[in-house]
Amino acid sequence: MMTRKPIIAGNWKMYKTVQEAKDFAAGLLESLEKLENGTNAEMVICAPFTALAALKDELEESIIHIGAQNMYYETQGAYTGEISPLMLTELACTYVIIGHSERREYFKEDDALIAKKVKTALDFGLTPILCVGENLALREAGQALVFVQGQVENALRELSPEEIRKIVVAYEPIWAIGTGRTASPQDAQEMCAAIRATLARLAAEAAQEIRILYGGSVKASNIAELMDQPDIDGALVGGASLDFLGFTELIGSV
Ligand code: PEP
Repeated sequence: MMTRKPIIAGNWKMYKTVQEAKDFAAGLLESLEKLENGTNAEMVICAPFTALAALKDELEESIIHIGAQNMYYETQGAYTGEISPLMLTELACTYVIIGHSERREYFKEDDALIAKKVKTALDFGLTPILCVGENLALREAGQALVFVQGQVENALRELSPEEIRKIVVAYEPIWAIGTGRTASPQDAQEMCAAIRATLARLAAEAAQEIRILYGGSVKASNIAELMDQPDIDGALVGGASLDFLGFTELIGSV
C-alpha cells in the first residue's frame, strides 16, 4: 500500500493576537525539540490573517508550515475586506483551509465559490485543505455519505487529475466540531474511504496519494486510533491546537 506522509494541521479559528501567536510559535518549537521520538508528521498552523506576518518571522525557516484559514479567488481588486492568494504566499503561507464548515454556515460559502477558491489556491502554489462534512440531521437521515461525496465532486470537478493530486481533503462532521463528540474511528474511516473512492473517480491515479484528514474534537487521547485507520492520513485540529504544550502532546501521540 502506498504510504502517505501524515499531516497534523492546527486551525486556530479567530483566536490569538500577534503577541500570542509569537509566544505560541516559540513555545512549540522548543517543546517539539523535547519530543522523545520526534515526529514524521507534516505540521501546519493555520492562523488568522493578522498573525501570519509574525508566524513568517518565527517559523519560515522551521519544520512547521504556515497556513491561512480562508482566501478570495482574485489576485487583487475592489473586494473590500478580502485577502488574496498573492498576499498569502508573500507571508510564506503554503497551505490554506478552504470551505471550512464555519465559512459555509456563517458566511454562506457555497460549493461554487469553494471550487473557485480551490482552483486559485492551486494556481498560486498553495495547498488547499478542502473541508467537507455533514451536519447531524443529514447523518441521522443516513445521507452523510452521498452529501459529502457531492461536496467533494462539486469542489473538484473542474480540476485536472494533476491538480487534484495536490490537494488535501479534511473530513469534518459538523456535529463533531468543537463539541467534544468525536466520530468513531470506524465511522470516520467509512467516510474517508468514500471520499477516496470519489477522488478515484475524478483522478484515478492520484487518489491513493491524496492525504485525507479527519477533524472534529481531535485530541491527544483519540488521535492514534483515528490515524490507525487506513484512509485517515492526519487531522485538522481546532481547540486542541491552541495550547502549544497540548498540541505537542497531540503530535507526539501520532
Ligand atoms: C476545526 O476547527 O476544524 C475543528 C475540527 O475544531 P475542533 O478540533 O475544536 O473540533
